[in-house]
Amino acid sequence: MPDHAISSRTVAVIGGGPAGLMAAEVLIAHGVAVDLYDAMPSVGRKFLLAGKGGMNLTHSEASAAFLSRYGSRAPQIAPMLQAFGPDALRAWVHELGISTFVGSSGRVFPTDMKAAPLLRAWLKRLRDAGVRFHMRHRWLGWDEAGNLRFATPDGEHKAQSDATILALGGGSWARLGSDGAWLPLLAQHGIAAAPLKPANCGFDIGWSAHFQERFAGQPVKAVVASCVAADGIEYKRQGEFVVTGTGIEGSLIYAMSAHLREQIIRQGNAILTLDLAPGKTFERVLDEVSQPRGARSMASHLQSKVGIAGVKAGLLREVVAKEDYAHPHKLAQAIKALPLQLLATRPLDEAISSAGGVLFETLDEQLMAPAMPGVFCAGEMLDWEAPTGGYLLSACFASGRSAGLGAAAWLQAKDPQ
Ligand SMILES: Cc1cc2nc3c(=O)[nH]c(=O)nc-3n(C[C@H](O)[C@H](O)[C@H](O)COP(=O)(O)OP(=O)(O)OC[C@H]3O[C@@H](n4cnc5c(N)ncnc54)[C@H](O)[C@@H]3O)c2cc1C
Repeated sequence: MPDHAISSRTVAVIGGGPAGLMAAEVLIAHGVAVDLYDAMPSVGRKFLLAGKGGMNLTHSEASAAFLSRYGSRAPQIAPMLQAFGPDALRAWVHELGISTFVGSSGRVFPTDMKAAPLLRAWLKRLRDAGVRFHMRHRWLGWDEAGNLRFATPDGEHKAQSDATILALGGGSWARLGSDGAWLPLLAQHGIAAAPLKPANCGFDIGWSAHFQERFAGQPVKAVVASCVAADGIEYKRQGEFVVTGTGIEGSLIYAMSAHLREQIIRQGNAILTLDLAPGKTFERVLDEVSQPRGARSMASHLQSKVGIAGVKAGLLREVVAKEDYAHPHKLAQAIKALPLQLLATRPLDEAISSAGGVLFETLDEQLMAPAMPGVFCAGEMLDWEAPTGGYLLSACFASGRSAGLGAAAWLQAKDPQ
């Protein structure tokens, strides 16, 4: 229902990813004029990329487990998800004419797994509602009079707004538009941010040339990975990952990447421990390894007795010292707990998402920066992180909605009827 008190107001939404588009939708529904600016020729590029590998919108798990995915930022994300959680998000997607389903992992996808039909329907609805889109407008900050400055193909443009939503994304995949260049712009105005760091990322190991040549690109399936986080708690998870030319990546690695990244920052490297034979006890593996092998090589013995071959066998050869490889007890230990030493995260630009960003402590509960009244922040540019599984988009949509509602309420409070 349009709010007549604020209908003469204009809000600038800068950034046309899921967070900015959601803020625009909420604001236009309140009757304010909405100008949406984006640096790129079209909006939602990262959203579309997310759809390439199967758009995972959200997750169907119970709310306590869902919230725990946001780690130390769960308290700040909780109110936003209470207002617009996974069920509300799915209902909203259905309203756009897109059906969804819950996969066997509990993840929620559009039925066709794609992002493009959803984005198309959403943009049509926003345009029909009156949102004005300004593409190729790269925000440069504010001038001394408080106007928004944009670099455009026709030179610098300035714009005024009664409130501004910044939804500029994180720092990964910069070619899709989000490059983190806003960090110093906000710092100049007292909006504090933690440095951006790669999240849901791969790691460098420094493979030998032989291993890299033979196994780069190969999946390592059915392993249990574990690591010890800063709080001393051991995190363990079964899954699969991929050997890359420089190290490892893939869903299992992303799921543990925040702990591994922090370990590297603290101590210069991180240890990821792999159980290469998760279905078997140590005793059983030891028994299998210790059986007489006759003239057989250790490689064919491992394959026939323990079922370890290919890239798993390659990993053993790569990590286990030559003398230990011939020692049944030490080899069995390595099969059940192979320590991979990770040297560095892959660069932020390659990561699925970013950790770090605008500190919640610099914002109020409506996501407005009191240092810049009328300026709100939303989406991945805020200082939270989460694993893949739909948690990223869920918090982007929810925070975009919160910022939009916050801006509408702020304008209303400034301008009561
Ligand atoms: C390969 C890949 C797969 C993914 N898959 C999933 C998935 O399946 N599920 C999931 O939940 N998440 C997924 N994500 C993460 C998800 O896409 C992001 O978290 C989400 O898009 C962030 O939304 P946002 O609106 O905060 O920012 P973005 O989507 O990054 O949008 C920010 C916008 O701001 C614009 N912008 C930036 N700076 C400026 C500026 N100075 N001036 C003007 N405009 C500017 C950008 O051009 C961009 O359009 C994936 C990410 C990647 C890279």
